[in-house]
Amino acid sequence: LNPVYAGMPVTIFEHMSGLARETGAINLGQGFPDGAPPQALAEAVARATRERSNQYPPMAGVPELRDAVASFYARTQGLALTREQVIVTSGATEAIAAAVFGIVNPGDEVLLFAPAYDAYAPLVRRAGGVPVFVPLRPPYWRYVRDEIAAVITPHTRAMIVNDPLNPTGSVASAADLSMLAGLCIEHDLIAFCDEVWEAVRFDGVRHRSLLDLPGMADRAVKIGSAGKIFGVTGWKVGWMCAAPELAAVLARAHQFLTFTTPPMLQYAVAEALNHPAIIAAQHADWSASRARLIERLRGEGFAVLENAATWFACIELTVSGFELTDREFSERAVREAGVASIPLSALWEGGACPDGIVRLCHCKPVAMLDEAVERLARWR
Ligand code: GLN
Repeated sequence: LNPVYAGMPVTIFEHMSGLARETGAINLGQGFPDGAPPQALAEAVARATRERSNQYPPMAGVPELRDAVASFYARTQGLALTREQVIVTSGATEAIAAAVFGIVNPGDEVLLFAPAYDAYAPLVRRAGGVPVFVPLRPPYWRYVRDEIAAVITPHTRAMIVNDPLNPTGSVASAADLSMLAGLCIEHDLIAFCDEVWEAVRFDGVRHRSLLDLPGMADRAVKIGSAGKIFGVTGWKVGWMCAAPELAAVLARAHQFLTFTTPPMLQYAVAEALNHPAIIAAQHADWSASRARLIERLRGEGFAVLENAATWFACIELTVSGFELTDREFSERAVREAGVASIPLSALWEGGACPDGIVRLCHCKPVAMLDEAVERLARWR
């Protein structure tokens, strides 16, 4: 058995969703919207299934989707990407795997920032790399230059930057992004930019990709996800964007992971990306559900950390009146209160995790959010 996987527990998302299914709890753990996908998307996938090829699409993605991703980024982020720079993958997690496998060599150190999405470290280790964690701290989760510079060695090869950041819902400041870019250039590092939450921002400020910063075009791999843009997490349609020579190599890693992604899903996503109204409607829904959850939580005296993006809001347990660790809270709340959540410490490696913070998912119907908050308030 490979030591990276032997003895490893199932992911916290799978664990909490399993408990929610078993107990019938409201699932505010794993991040996914409830209800039907956008009607236009459902129709587009049905039409593509009927009218287009259902056989292997081109390995790097159907041209329609590669072009649509490039235009989406031109329109929303001012990026000038060509079709060759976009490689479609079966979800962003596959993109992260392909990018890491395509770039990281045995012995390379890769900087990760805690809290870190749980797939990063195992993928780096599976590539023979060594994850090196740098902590971010509440309430603002800023990137501290001196702490990062202090762990850079001649073996440091890359960093994985998740912006906006899951699970905190925070967004890197312009100053932090420039600082990270500066470190990448100074130390000749690759930046894996997990930007799957780029379209789920609520502060009205345009997303700035690390790839767009001066000097980063040749050293950044930008990763995106249709699951997050359209709220269809089970579709597993993602992509990675990089300079043409780099993208060509990453495509070689992708071709022996999943090879391709179902064509009808690619065509539907391509169509929807070209319709800003679909994205705007989703955004309006999530904006409202976010406001609702935060308002109801604060109304019941829960301490909610500021969030500017993602489907998540975090609460601080002690200040909210719970004398429990985050793990204890999540394990007990799902069974005793009937609400599933994600403990922040499950996404933490390398040094002490800040005490007692749990993540709640807000992209749910208002009645469900209200009921969840009532249950937690009653249980406390
Ligand atoms: N990205 C999802 C979340 O943060 C989880 C995805 C998964 O379960 N693998 O909730």
